[in-house]
Amino acid sequence: MIDVLIIGGGAAGMMAALHAKQAGAGHVTLLERNNRLGLKIGITGKGRCNLTNDCTVQELVENVPVNGRFLYSAFSQMDSQKTMALFDQLGLRLKTERGRRVFPLSDRATELVLTLRAAAEKAGVQVRTESRVQSLLVTVKGEFTVSGQGFSLSARNVIIATGGLSYPVTGSTGDGYRLAQSLGHNLVKTRPALVPLESPEPWVRELQGLSLKNVTLTSPAGCELGEMLFTHYGVSGPLVLTASGHIVDLLPRGPVVLTIDLKPGLSEEQLDARLLRDFAEVPRRHFANSLDKLLPGRLITAVVAL
Ligand SMILES: Cc1cc2nc3c(=O)[nH]c(=O)nc-3n(C[C@H](O)[C@H](O)[C@H](O)COP(=O)(O)OP(=O)(O)OC[C@H]3O[C@@H](n4cnc5c(N)ncnc54)[C@H](O)[C@@H]3O)c2cc1C
Repeated sequence: MIDVLIIGGGAAGMMAALHAKQAGAGHVTLLERNNRLGLKIGITGKGRCNLTNDCTVQELVENVPVNGRFLYSAFSQMDSQKTMALFDQLGLRLKTERGRRVFPLSDRATELVLTLRAAAEKAGVQVRTESRVQSLLVTVKGEFTVSGQGFSLSARNVIIATGGLSYPVTGSTGDGYRLAQSLGHNLVKTRPALVPLESPEPWVRELQGLSLKNVTLTSPAGCELGEMLFTHYGVSGPLVLTASGHIVDLLPRGPVVLTIDLKPGLSEEQLDARLLRDFAEVPRRHFANSLDKLLPGRLITAVVAL
């Protein structure tokens, strides 16, 4: 009989398994559907994994766009300092970059996966890959029967750590929601958050690959200064991802308009004066060629056309 069975070998599952062992659980088993653990961690932080930020719980909570207070109790158990201390103790060397973002010193997210897996196995966790859980039942004795193709296991406690619905190719396809529902849990409807946005405007898509720094993006979610990016389907980058959580809720009511201020440091009067000065410098120049000091080359065509 397994004491603690964890379904899903991602960030949460590996941490749960390690902590269950450290807290004294006897037999702990971790089941992962893929042939290796932590596939999603491998793509986080552009393959480097921004595993925490070196700041206080208060700051962490304040930077969660929606209902950050919900995370207070979790963060007070495991704050940034404890997270960094844990990885330090497990032998993963870390570094802190701009914005107090913490990464593995090697810049390799996969090193974090290997570290967590090795720690869990060293603590005695039994890891089983290629084991997709398809059914979760409660027996009359109040224990669990966990089964999939070719296996059926009994456990006293089960932790569902199958992830959300983002990047299903990494294995998180919503199985955990279905398993929880099969035991009678109610689900809050899932919705995308931290996602790029699509635009029907052809000029937006023609700018794919162009990134803008120090611009402000105004949307129904507010106005923020930072970086954004044009893609082959619309817009992305930190400003867009942050605003998307709020925008996604508004989209069923119709399209949302985003406004980009390319020169947030200049007032309208200052910008006007600046343009007149640029035009006056070379008076008989073609309009499009007069903007090259003001805007990135690729943006000029779009701005002139608009
Ligand atoms: C592009 C991208 C970049 C990100 N960058 C960062 C970052 O830099 N820093 C950061 O903190 N967060 C980042 N995140 C968020 C982070 O990846 C997630 O918060 C984290 O992976 C969630 O961990 P999890 O264990 O809950 O779920 P997952 O990592 O999704 O793990 C769930 C695991 O369960 C397995 N599973 C699913 N169903 C079953 C089943 N039926 N049986 C067995 N196993 C199953 C899956 O295969 C998967 O391995 C990023 C996310 C994305 C998509």
